[in-house]
Amino acid sequence: MAAPMTATQMLRSLQEEGVDVREHRNWREHNRNHRGAWGPVHGVVIHHTAGTDSLALCYAGTSALPGPLCHTHLSKAGVATMVGHGRANHAGGFAANAHEAVLSESTTHPRPARTEPVDGNRHYYGIEIENLGNGRDAYPTAQYDAAVRWAAAICRAHGWTEDSVIGHKEGTRRKIDPSFDMNKFRSDVAARLKHAASWDPSSPEKGALVADKNDVAVLFKTDGVLDSPDKDKDANNNEHWTAESYLRFDYLQNRDTLKLVKALTTKLDAQQTTISELAKTVAALAANTAEIDADALVARIKGEIEKVTVHLEVADA
Ligand SMILES: [Zn+2]
Repeated sequence: MAAPMTATQMLRSLQEEGVDVREHRNWREHNRNHRGAWGPVHGVVIHHTAGTDSLALCYAGTSALPGPLCHTHLSKAGVATMVGHGRANHAGGFAANAHEAVLSESTTHPRPARTEPVDGNRHYYGIEIENLGNGRDAYPTAQYDAAVRWAAAICRAHGWTEDSVIGHKEGTRRKIDPSFDMNKFRSDVAARLKHAASWDPSSPEKGALVADKNDVAVLFKTDGVLDSPDKDKDANNNEHWTAESYLRFDYLQNRDTLKLVKALTTKLDAQQTTISELAKTVAALAANTAEIDADALVARIKGEIEKVTVHLEVADA
C-alpha cells in the first residue's frame, strides 16, 4: 500500500538510478484519472510493445484504447520517455492470485487465474519496452539495463523488493509480454537494490580492489615450458615465453633485489655500531685514560671490517 509518487518524484528517482529520461509533451497531466482511480500503488508491470516506433502510440493510444498506454516508453537505445502520469491503460484486469503474490512480495509468482477482478491500471506503474516480442528481436544491453534501472528506481522509492515487479504475462493469461524471463529480470533488479541508486556495475566501486587473488593467479600462469624463468633463460633463447612469464620473471628479480637491499641495510647498521665503538676507543686513547693493547685493537678492527664486507653478485649482461 503506497501513495503514488508525484511526477517530480518519479523523474528524480529514475534519474538517480541512472536512467536517461526524456519528457514527452504534457506527460505530467496526461492520464486516465477521469475514468477511474489511481493508487494506492503496489507494483510495476513490464511490457513489450510488439511493434516499432511506438512512442507516439504509447502517448496517444487508439480510439478503442486511449492513451497513455503506459507511464514510460523505452527505446532500443535505452532512452526512457515519460508519456503519462497517473492512471494509464497498460495493465487491464489482473488475476487475484497474481496480485496477492505482489502484495505479499512472494518470491514465487503463480500462473494467473482465469478470472480478473483486480484493476491493474489502478495499482501498477507500467513500462513499454520497444520490442517485436517474437523471441527473435533482441533486447540491446543498454535497453535491458535501463529497464532494470527503471523497475529498481520505483521499488527503491517505495521500499519494495524485486518481487513487486511482474511481467504483464504474470498478471493475466491474456498476455505474453514481456518476451524475456521475469525471474532473471527480478534477480537483476535485486542486484541493483543491494547497492546505492548510483551503482554502475560496469565500473568498479570506489575503494574496491581492481584485481583479486584469482586475477593475479591468471597473470602469473606459466607458459608450460618453464617452471620458473631464471636469469639463464629469457626471450632470446626460449621462443615459448609468454607475456605472463615476463611478469613472473620481473617479480622474481624484484624479490631478489629486495632481499639484497635488506641484507645490505643490516650490514650497514653493524658497520655504524663498529665505527661508534672505534670512535669511543680513540677518544679514550686521546684522553690517556685507558690501557690499550695495540695488537688486540688492530685484530678487532680487522674483524669488524670483515663482517661488513658485502659480496655483490652481478649477473653478466
Ligand atoms: Zn503488456
